[in-house]
Amino acid sequence: MNEQQLSERLEKVVSYVQQGARIADIGSDHAYLPCYAVQKGQVEFAIAGEVVEGPFQSATKQVRSLDLSERISVRKGDGLAVIDSEDRVDTVVIAGMGGALIRSILEADPEKLMGVKRLILQPNIGAHQLREWGEKNQWGLVAESIIKEDSKIYEILVLEPSEKVVRYSNGERLLGPFLMQERSIVFQEKWQNELANWTQIQAKIDATRAKNEEKLAELTAKIKIIKDVLK
Ligand code: SAM
Repeated sequence: MNEQQLSERLEKVVSYVQQGARIADIGSDHAYLPCYAVQKGQVEFAIAGEVVEGPFQSATKQVRSLDLSERISVRKGDGLAVIDSEDRVDTVVIAGMGGALIRSILEADPEKLMGVKRLILQPNIGAHQLREWGEKNQWGLVAESIIKEDSKIYEILVLEPSEKVVRYSNGERLLGPFLMQERSIVFQEKWQNELANWTQIQAKIDATRAKNEEKLAELTAKIKIIKDVLK
């Protein structure tokens, strides 16, 4: 993978960036996504935000080596803190982290999302955390994708601010409203795997003498949700 040839995962993520957008890519270790989008003429301006020194240096080097410093600003900082109002960022991309971490980044600086019209999120796990965040903060899903690359399955969520109340059923929150409708082969594989895994854990907890009843009830509820969707 490099700035010209993205991974299939990042290619799918960048496909949701609208023409002429001003983006902030948060957690941009090599700045591949901003470099690719600027070189293709897809975005006007990009921030590559990184909190860790090593990846920040890699992103800085990459942008300099491609002579893209006028269009891509590499900034060191935590999450959305790297965005300033004068940047007029309209799209935020956060990819390749867990859903809980992405959610904590969104919650840490909610004022930075004023003026942002689109969030493109790619959680490696725990996508339901982001649908739940959307419900609480009135950001509705406008698209979702699920892909498999190098035997790993990734979900991509696209959210926009919503005038209406955002509410999902338990099934939609856990599995994704668009993904449930589409029911792709990859989607079925992911949830068959989760079902097998959670059923095994359920049996193990059930077999212990001092059962964690709360955990058991939570797992049983999740298993029922998946079974209902897959049937
Ligand atoms: N976004 C790229 C991708 O999808 O391929 C890189 C993913 S990499 C696994 C996650 C990156 O996010 C790491 O470089 C890490 O240092 C950075 N990161 C983690 N927490 C962050 C935060 N709070 N703010 C900015 N960057 C963060």
